[in-house]
Amino acid sequence: MSMLKTPDQISMMREAGRVVANALAAVREHADVGVSLKELDEVAADVISGAGAKPAFLDYHPRWAALPFPGVICASVNDAVVHGIPDGYVLQDGDLLSVDCGAFLEGWCGDAAISFVVGTADPADQALIDATDAALARGIEAARVGNKMGDLAYAIGGEAKRAGYGLLADHGGHGIGRTMHAEPPVPNIGRPGRGIKLQEGLVIAIEPMLILGGKDDYYHDDDEWTLRSSSGNRAAHSEHTVAITADGPMILTLP
Ligand code: MG
Ligand code: MG
Repeated sequence: MSMLKTPDQISMMREAGRVVANALAAVREHADVGVSLKELDEVAADVISGAGAKPAFLDYHPRWAALPFPGVICASVNDAVVHGIPDGYVLQDGDLLSVDCGAFLEGWCGDAAISFVVGTADPADQALIDATDAALARGIEAARVGNKMGDLAYAIGGEAKRAGYGLLADHGGHGIGRTMHAEPPVPNIGRPGRGIKLQEGLVIAIEPMLILGGKDDYYHDDDEWTLRSSSGNRAAHSEHTVAITADGPMILTLP
């Protein structure tokens, strides 16, 4: 199947994206000091099933993973960068929480992530989140016909590095459609003018993952899923599913 989607297919993906955005908004609304990650997972599950959609992460089992993923959301707290399991952990004041969520509606996938602080934010954490959102915005802005993938990757990584943050350089975004993770890869670091041409109808998930302190290293937790920063520093993750159209980038994962 072609990587490129028709306008009708993009409209269907917009509906899947809306479900994901609504699930993330509900999780954010519910997240508070004293609330467990498991409770947040149930909030997302309810929104997704209520919309007649199916969670994309639950039981997801890529070749590289030892175990299928046990949650509807990835809930990554503090030094967890991505792929955190929504377990019984109870949120504390000042925790930096990243929530990643995917859903299928009528066979089309949406994928998005947000990061925010629960309770009182350390200004350094808020700045990290703002930089992650800015890197995502730069990437989206570069998702245009006439650009190449290297332009988009450079826009994301350049923003992160200029601000002095570490970057999960060997992780990034992806094509998306009938499956969550499809061709082409969407790297967070790259060189202008390199890579494939960005064509009308290409739909991609753009997802910068930034780490405080400028170091890029990470390790896998004993749970086989969670990626944590080697420095122990906090990390943030933001993601949208974006269609490249004749009129410019169209964000599909908005409420
Ligand atoms: Mg995601
Ligand atoms: Mg993704």
